[in-house]
Amino acid sequence: MNYREAVSKVIEEKREKLIAVSDELWGYAETGFVEFQSAELLCRALEEEGFEVEKGVADIETAFVGSYGSGGPVIAVLGEFDALSGLSQAGGETSYNPLQPGGSGHGCGHNLLGTGALAAAIAIRDHLKENNLEGTVRYYGCPGEEIGSGKTFMVRAGLFDDVDFAVCWHPWSRHAVWSMASLACYEVSFRFKGKSAHAADSPHLGRSALDAVELMNVGVNYLREHVIPEARMHYAVTNTGGVSPNVVQDRADVLYFVRAPRVAQAEEIYQRVCDVARGAALMTGTKVEIDFASAASDILPNNTLESVMYDNFTALGVPEYDEQDYNFAKAIRATLDEADKRKDVLANKELAGKDLADVIDPFIPSNGVMPGTSDVGDVSWVVPTVQALVGCEPIGTPLHTWQIVSTGKTSVGHKGMLHAGKVMAATAIEVLHNPELLEKAKAELIEQRNGEEYICPIPPEIKKYKLQTV
Ligand SMILES: [Zn+2]
Repeated sequence: MNYREAVSKVIEEKREKLIAVSDELWGYAETGFVEFQSAELLCRALEEEGFEVEKGVADIETAFVGSYGSGGPVIAVLGEFDALSGLSQAGGETSYNPLQPGGSGHGCGHNLLGTGALAAAIAIRDHLKENNLEGTVRYYGCPGEEIGSGKTFMVRAGLFDDVDFAVCWHPWSRHAVWSMASLACYEVSFRFKGKSAHAADSPHLGRSALDAVELMNVGVNYLREHVIPEARMHYAVTNTGGVSPNVVQDRADVLYFVRAPRVAQAEEIYQRVCDVARGAALMTGTKVEIDFASAASDILPNNTLESVMYDNFTALGVPEYDEQDYNFAKAIRATLDEADKRKDVLANKELAGKDLADVIDPFIPSNGVMPGTSDVGDVSWVVPTVQALVGCEPIGTPLHTWQIVSTGKTSVGHKGMLHAGKVMAATAIEVLHNPELLEKAKAELIEQRNGEEYICPIPPEIKKYKLQTV
């Protein structure tokens, strides 16, 4: 039995248990940094598998590291488990049906992500154990990917300092090895404080914080033309100052994401956004407090590890779907619009007319910049990192939708999740046995940094992520 067959066997043997973990995470659907039950569940699963678990790392209650083995190389497997608010949806249904209106749901498939990573960690552990090998496998329980960038705090706390390489994955609507850079992102609240007054009787005595928010947004919308085209700026008014038009609102908050291909570019644009905020405060006679919440770095692709993963993915093939899976996928796709359906076909013509991906995208090294952000970026700046994208959704299904929540509790999602575990474990084991690959991956990381050192984008005075509640 070769190592890929061994990995598949271990994961298949644990299929039911892993599916149960994923479905339980799906049910908890806890959002960033309050994933208490989810973290507990994963810690318990790791302990049952003989991992030594350290909870509350990086001073974050829901961050943890499960470790097995001793000595090097040290392999990190990254697991996420946070959900998204407002995306409650019944599992396995093909029409919109929230379980709890306004509730949360796993709209990015992180129940699968966290469990697929667990599968990989278990299979790597088995390989170390069975072959009596030197080496350590660590499961990094990374909270708050959707908000707050848990991994960035974990990198800053030095948790990756002795790691040799990291493997991770994300559920997707196609099968591929990720080889794109991403955007660095700053997450900052601007909190305006004015003076309330009767809006009809004495508006001249009031100073409107809500006016300041509106003017700040207008200013930033003008700023858009004068920043690099790859930059992204978006906002949500998280506090409108109440619902009474006859009150001059004395408090109002707006949360901004400022993104650019490199941290230094995001920083420069962020400083200009701060100037706009201060200008809005000046115009309205209000005060602004700039409340830095979090930040994440861009992803540095590692072509060396990616080609190892691509070879293993190709050798393992794709998950096998049955008629029930295809029927479900067809019904979900009937709810998508044409532009969504086209998206994946534009990326891979072989998917035209299909409901589930049955091929692996060709590997294109350093394939441009994805206009989104992941805190995997910070890990990728300090250790060579590789990421698989494994089909867990019908072709064209956009992330952060009820369709993803629904699929995350079906065999389409489960099959992709278990497969992802196999792809990651096989990749890690190949690197483990070929030190020259690891050396090459490390040399490539230095090259990708292009002379820059890693600087954590979260200012040192920000000790913890503060939940951005309304
Ligand atoms: Zn995600």
